[in-house]
Amino acid sequence: MSTQLDYYEVLGIARDASGDEVKRAYRRLAIKWHPDQNQGNADAEAKFKECAEAYEVLSDPEKRAVYDRHGHAGLRGRAGHDFNSMHVEDIFSMFNDIFGGQQGGGGRRQRGPARGYDLETEVEITLEEVLKGCDREIPFKRLEVCGVCKGSGAKPGTKPTECSTCGGQGQVAQQGLGGLFRMVTTCPTCQGRRTIVKDKCSECSGAGRTSVQRKLSVKIPRGISDGQVVRVAGEGEPPPPQASPDGTGIRGDLHIVVRVAEDERFERQGPDLITTLEVSFAEAALGGAVVVPTLEGESETELDAGTQHGELFRLDGKGVPDLRTGERGDLVVVVHVLVPRKLSAKQRELITALREAERPAKEKAKPGAKDGGKEPPVQEKKDGSAKKRGGFWGKMKDSLGS
Ligand SMILES: [Zn+2]
Ligand SMILES: [Zn+2]
Repeated sequence: MSTQLDYYEVLGIARDASGDEVKRAYRRLAIKWHPDQNQGNADAEAKFKECAEAYEVLSDPEKRAVYDRHGHAGLRGRAGHDFNSMHVEDIFSMFNDIFGGQQGGGGRRQRGPARGYDLETEVEITLEEVLKGCDREIPFKRLEVCGVCKGSGAKPGTKPTECSTCGGQGQVAQQGLGGLFRMVTTCPTCQGRRTIVKDKCSECSGAGRTSVQRKLSVKIPRGISDGQVVRVAGEGEPPPPQASPDGTGIRGDLHIVVRVAEDERFERQGPDLITTLEVSFAEAALGGAVVVPTLEGESETELDAGTQHGELFRLDGKGVPDLRTGERGDLVVVVHVLVPRKLSAKQRELITALREAERPAKEKAKPGAKDGGKEPPVQEKKDGSAKKRGGFWGKMKDSLGS
């Protein structure tokens, strides 16, 4: 899954960094975190991939503008490469132009047919959709073999010629950074494609690939959780041009990361949902019918007389389905007894009478008993009350006074 870290922080650059600065920062960090240089450091590969992801966004003016305005959420539904599932060597060859062939092991020799890169995109669904499952249109962009040049990158009627730097090998032997990197590197002239295009195809500017908008209808299974991935095989990119100019081979996959939107009524815990129910002191004391929110609308249920603040009850089968078994969890209702902040004259009279009724007989008789007959101290008005606090657990903490 993609990182939620700030891309500028990942690359250690200012928000107004120029395109060149982005490039330099990525080049420096990609070398620093290259797993070959960090044997035994498990974090290095993750850092290396985070940097590649940040670079893919910040090096693209359009994606960068969206990210600047809306952050990670803005990039939802825009497919990027799924760097987590890519080989380090492939990431190096993907951004080969900025390494200039000086380091990196671009030409990973693949066995069997060439395979394209996986793509990753996100989709947001609601808890109601988790309950029922849903079909969603997933729009995304991916590279396709250019229809004009059929992937060769050459103007129709012309042909790419063999690269003279590498003699058509796609790789050259080089001294790399004092031996830190492998000596055989991707050819800096042809970028591993083995050929050079003199007359470039005008459609793809010689790249052999064009970006195409695509839409897929995808079934999101019921019971899915936030962060889980729906994989659509064969909907990623065709093999890259250096591996297979005309794109023959196996397409990568599309990974759709499912985001479940926060629902302020419910907190999800596995297949169970938790909600709070606010009741007055009188309702809690006397019991009776109460209305509880469920995913299928409001549901009336009976509250036991004498229910305490913080007490729980369950509505069986009103949770969300388990992804595997389809069996629904429960709705756990946490009772929150409200103490009135303001009283009408009538309420004050009744509650005062209640206090009198609760007081033990001997205390009642004592003259000048504690706050007997006196006005209660004016309660400080609390602002930022429970409702304003963020999220369910904020409310819970408020309500339980912790
Ligand atoms: Zn073309
Ligand atoms: Zn070459």
